[in-house]
Amino acid sequence: PNQNDSIFRVMLVGESGVGKSTLAGTFSDLQGDSSHEPENPEDSYERQILVDKEEVTLVVYDIWEQGDAGGWLRDHCLQTGDAFLIVFSVTDRRSFSKVPETLLRLRAGRPNHDLPVILVGNKSDLARSREVSLEEGRHLAGTLSCKHIETSAALHHNTRELFEGAVRQIRLRRSRG
Ligand code: GDP
Ligand code: MG
Repeated sequence: PNQNDSIFRVMLVGESGVGKSTLAGTFSDLQGDSSHEPENPEDSYERQILVDKEEVTLVVYDIWEQGDAGGWLRDHCLQTGDAFLIVFSVTDRRSFSKVPETLLRLRAGRPNHDLPVILVGNKSDLARSREVSLEEGRHLAGTLSCKHIETSAALHHNTRELFEGAVRQIRLRRSRG
């Protein structure tokens, strides 16, 4: 088997301010219970994690915002990712309304692949400033044929489930060849 078979590359995409870097930070600190923001945010985080009793190397990339639409870095993101997490904030309807366009761009960049994409409604802890309901998120994901999860990067709620879910999605695609 290919030596890359156990490396899983996950790309965080989405608008500014939705919590991508905070989510990446929770990944670097999956076992921890702290909710602080990372002191030195990085471009990528690599960890060995056990998912369904099998260890994988998961690399989470937080580089989407460094690229411009149509630029080489965005294209690099598209070609590098084995799975994509499209993050929006449930407190920011504008970030939610951008999702379909972003997904179209991802799929256009990899036309021959059945790309694993998870729609991530982040900041679920901010109940009073919520602008997008759980049902709306679910419904959009259904319409776009992708998975959906709500997370709170601040409280580390559902963050482990998110990254494990990404690994499972990638495995599913690889097992189908
Ligand atoms: P990015 O621009 O997508 O990388 O977003 P950041 O990770 O920099 O987060 C933007 C702001 O939202 C920061 O002030 C974070 O502390 C805050 N934030 C991120 N995730 C959450 C969350 O789940 N809940 C709350 N309450 N705030 C969050
Ligand atoms: Mg960021």
